[in-house]
Amino acid sequence: MRGRFAPSPSGALHLGHISTALLSWLQAHSMGGEWWLRMEDNDPQRSKSEHMHGIRRDLAWLGLHWDVEGPLQSDRHAAYAEALDVLTQQGLVFACQCTRKDMEEAVRASDQSWGSYPGTCLHAHLAMDGPYALRLHHSEDAFVLRRADGAWAYQLAVVVDDQAQNITHVLRGQDLVNSQASQTLLHQKLGGAPPKFNHAPLWLGPDGVRLSKRHHARSVQDYRLAGWSPNALLGHVACALGYLPEPTPCVPKDLLPSFVAHPLRQRAIAPSEVLPLWV
Ligand code: GLU
Repeated sequence: MRGRFAPSPSGALHLGHISTALLSWLQAHSMGGEWWLRMEDNDPQRSKSEHMHGIRRDLAWLGLHWDVEGPLQSDRHAAYAEALDVLTQQGLVFACQCTRKDMEEAVRASDQSWGSYPGTCLHAHLAMDGPYALRLHHSEDAFVLRRADGAWAYQLAVVVDDQAQNITHVLRGQDLVNSQASQTLLHQKLGGAPPKFNHAPLWLGPDGVRLSKRHHARSVQDYRLAGWSPNALLGHVACALGYLPEPTPCVPKDLLPSFVAHPLRQRAIAPSEVLPLWV
């Protein structure tokens, strides 16, 4: 068994990340497996090395030690290009010049369900080496594999890495639940078995929307500077997840028996449930 935490180094870790990292760590350790860290710096515009350092520092501070750090996605261009070739040889890839706005308009005009590709560039035979996005065509769907600016899309990079790193269990946020179908398909087309997927509950901001940078969510570093201990912080997170009756300080391994005994919480976590973390 091998699990992983795969943050995008485009910002600091907040409560949602801590909770997902903790759950994935508990899953790996409860199964006697390995837990990997992988920095998903596939987006060159948003990824910053200072965030990578911060993420490593914060995980270590929380006691969420990883067994292996996988290679950076920015060092894996050759592997992604090879996977793209495999998919191209199967006739699954086409070049597309649609912007997000074009697609929204086409979908609206044709009354198709949201998320399906309107088919605009499917038979246009645009040059595969032109300044276009490359998409994978499969039934109604056509998700991006490589962006028009040449950056590798998350879906391709994550599947190629999970396969190369023999990840057997993926536990990540509910926000990625819709990626499971695309990634399962990619695993199959690339000749591998998909990992087992589980989804961690989302943490909401005061507006009821998933916690993000927009909320100026407190980062692990903010809690540390405000005098929180890692054990106190984990106690609150573990209590919200249903693993402790009270938010008593703990270290990750204290939670293993409770993690094994309880199903994964599905319901999102509102600030009112964890008020001390918000004051
Ligand atoms: N890098 C993605 C993110 O931070 C997570 C990818 C994954 O767990 O599959 O949202």
